[in-house]
Amino acid sequence: MEIRTQMYEGKAKQVLATDQPDQVVVRFKDAATAFDGKKKGTIANKGVYNLKISAFFFRMLEKEGIPTHYIETLSDRDLLARKLDIVPVEVVVRNIAAGSLAKRLGLEEGVPMAIPILEFYYKDDALGDPMINHYHIRAMNMASDEVVAEMEQYALQVNDILTRFLQTKHIQLVDFKLEFGLHQGKVYLGDEISPDTCRFWDTETREKMDKDRFRRDLGKVEEAYAEVLKRIEGE
Ligand code: 5GP
Repeated sequence: MEIRTQMYEGKAKQVLATDQPDQVVVRFKDAATAFDGKKKGTIANKGVYNLKISAFFFRMLEKEGIPTHYIETLSDRDLLARKLDIVPVEVVVRNIAAGSLAKRLGLEEGVPMAIPILEFYYKDDALGDPMINHYHIRAMNMASDEVVAEMEQYALQVNDILTRFLQTKHIQLVDFKLEFGLHQGKVYLGDEISPDTCRFWDTETREKMDKDRFRRDLGKVEEAYAEVLKRIEGE
């Protein structure tokens, strides 16, 4: 497999074409942004941690029957993946009130939800990823009803699998964002699953172990990413 030209550069990752038309290389960067790109910075070695954490979760989810874009890890920062036609919808699952949910509904951060909440956001930086529902997705032809139903089902399954696993590592899965895409007509989980895209809290101390440390200038950002990796890989 040979890496060819860059197809796309995002805020935290690059996607590179390969000599295989249906495979891409996803390269994880240390660049960090928040608040729709208004806050910019670097988290040392973030790309390395996020690749390892994502690869670990993708392999775990594949074993549980969730199709993911992950093929193999090529290096510290490069992951070989199936090329997806990305559905322009972010799927967020929430177990505990935090972030934009706490703000929107006037909830105190940390309040547990009686059932997991699933939300959709339109993936559009210029618009600040506005929240949407099934009607918007259908009206704007973002994905078929069947694809949306599969994304919902997979997202809730991912929540169950990761919540149970992380509990054993003394980490609470507060909320997370997933992205999906189509490959040869089938729905796959894409993007990454990392402290950039999830809220992880220490079960005992409730200390934040995710990108909120960067967003809110809490310090010890790199250490938090390293700790998540250490805990999930530990026995
Ligand atoms: P909130 O809506 O509270 O900002 O985010 C909910 C969850 O989804 C958090 O775990 C957050 O990290 C993740 N999330 C939502 N939108 C984005 C996004 O555009 N980029 C990243 N990296 N994570 C997101």
